[in-house]
Amino acid sequence: MLRAQLEARGIRDRRVLAAMAWAPREWFLPSHLAADAYDDAPLPIGNAQTISQPYIVGLMTAELVPQRRDRVLEIGTGSGYQTAILAHLVRAVYTVERLPDLLVEAEERFRRLRLTNIEARLGDGAHGWPEVAPFDGIIVTAAAPQLPAPLADQLAEGGRLVIPIGDLVSQELVVVHRTGTGFHERRIGGVRFVPLISRLAFTEESRP
Ligand code: SAH
Repeated sequence: MLRAQLEARGIRDRRVLAAMAWAPREWFLPSHLAADAYDDAPLPIGNAQTISQPYIVGLMTAELVPQRRDRVLEIGTGSGYQTAILAHLVRAVYTVERLPDLLVEAEERFRRLRLTNIEARLGDGAHGWPEVAPFDGIIVTAAAPQLPAPLADQLAEGGRLVIPIGDLVSQELVVVHRTGTGFHERRIGGVRFVPLISRLAFTEESRP
């Protein structure tokens, strides 16, 4: 069902479609929302945060062009749904979340799914994860006013980065491809994410 929805909206990467068909989205939701797990809509996961709409997860994942040997950095673990899909597709996923409660729950889900190629840590992801950089892919699942400089620095040559950039109300998904000649940006459409809270992005007080 999810697969048909995603294909209808233009997600064609076969590996991405297979990873999304594999991931049990209901495991990433509070139990009272399990019945809504396969609606193509964002849903609340507690702590005023949301799990992204499946179409947006599929779109962002496909734009990373994930390869089996890749190492990917995710900022904003949240429920861990996007993390799990990436872990199914690439060699290693490094994920950073600022809210301890969400991180603890996400790590429990990774264990339950026997995903052993995820390293998760608590912190401000706008600074990236310099100790294990560079990354073949970087995905930011919270909105930023601009691309945080450390993330651009930690993208490998040939790598791709996907980030929602805009204000607190709406953003545009930006895909950055780093090649031998520099950074090439593409805007792929409007989205609405919760804010990236950081000295390098939005302050907690600025939340609507
Ligand atoms: N990828 C998630 C979407 C989570 S919503 C999923 O599939 O469920 C965005 C998440 O980013 C929230 O959990 C929020 O707490 C987190 N976040 C916000 N600012 C952050 C920061 N500076 N560093 C790390 N995580 C951050």
